[in-house]
Amino acid sequence: MRKIICILNLTFIINLHGRNNIDLNRRIDFPNVKGFITMVCDFHTHSVFSDGSVWPDIRIQEAQKDGLDAIAITEHLEYQPYKDDIPHPDRNRSYDLAKKYSGDSDLLVINGAEITKSMPPGHSNAIFINDANPIFNEDYIKSFAEAKKQDAFIFWNHPFWIGQSKDGLINLSKMNQDLIDKEMLHGIEVTNDLTYSDEAIQIAIDNNLTFIGTSDVHGLVDWQYKIPEGGHRPVTLVLSKNRTAKELKKALFAGRTIVWYNNLLIGLEKWVKPLIESSMFVESSGYYRKTHVAVVNIRNNSDARFILKNTSSLTFYTNSDLIEVQPHSIKQIGVKTGEKLSKFELTFEVLNSVIGLKKHPEIKFIIKGANNNTIQDVIF
Ligand code: ZN
Repeated sequence: MRKIICILNLTFIINLHGRNNIDLNRRIDFPNVKGFITMVCDFHTHSVFSDGSVWPDIRIQEAQKDGLDAIAITEHLEYQPYKDDIPHPDRNRSYDLAKKYSGDSDLLVINGAEITKSMPPGHSNAIFINDANPIFNEDYIKSFAEAKKQDAFIFWNHPFWIGQSKDGLINLSKMNQDLIDKEMLHGIEVTNDLTYSDEAIQIAIDNNLTFIGTSDVHGLVDWQYKIPEGGHRPVTLVLSKNRTAKELKKALFAGRTIVWYNNLLIGLEKWVKPLIESSMFVESSGYYRKTHVAVVNIRNNSDARFILKNTSSLTFYTNSDLIEVQPHSIKQIGVKTGEKLSKFELTFEVLNSVIGLKKHPEIKFIIKGANNNTIQDVIF
């Protein structure tokens, strides 16, 4: 049985749609959702053209290795510590280079810039811009107005950053609220780099802002997120109608995102749940030999290590009420149904997903026809 699982995994890897420079062991992988393509995006990164430590070609190669669909290199407009060594009069320079390095690969390179102000209003990224230069302005409102004029998607970066907010909480100032009300802020980072904020999630929900999660990487993603040890960079999964920049931007304005951060899936229930349901489902079921123990095989087609808490009245032959379903694998559980049933339901709270303050989504598996199958061998 273990052998069969290995073969299934191998098949899965071979079936991945081929793109250049993608490292199959590390690419971030979530299935599509009905009606949408799940695009893996990092909208906040830096290079030596502001305070990052790498040339833009490295950002592109990392993105390709991680299987990203889109990346923005968002240099600080106001903070240029290396400008004596690397003069940077044209603030589109790192985008132009990144675009060139991406060549004819499928990776979308999005032009963006970080409007870098003290708090309030703090730091914000404007992406899908045409020209970073006129956005650079001492007066924050002129920067935002210009970005809006360019029809940019603008999001509030790390509003909980202890560099600007000592307690790690968020002060939603009048200035920030005005930007939201004037539709000059469309999204908010609920995670940034290695940090997470319940308060940002609440502000996103209260103000109808798009959930964003980014790496904000300055050094190397491998070191920062321990990718060789199995880690992953934080990204925004965007549910887009197709792979074009135009649809990607539309999806951001429509709020169709899920943040993938440190094995957590974070977002509105209406987007998180379909992603979980396409990632994890009952592949097969039956009863073990002549017993009344149902064997349920749960398939996980995603990178998430799902942590499930049983909320149904049935109990398990193999597990407590907590179950872990490893990435890209099948989890087999034994369910004590009392008699052979033609249909039963299992419900779980998905603990590694957040849809609000201390709120996790619930999923339901309907198991049908297990009474018609007899399973001779099990792996539990
Ligand atoms: Zn930044």
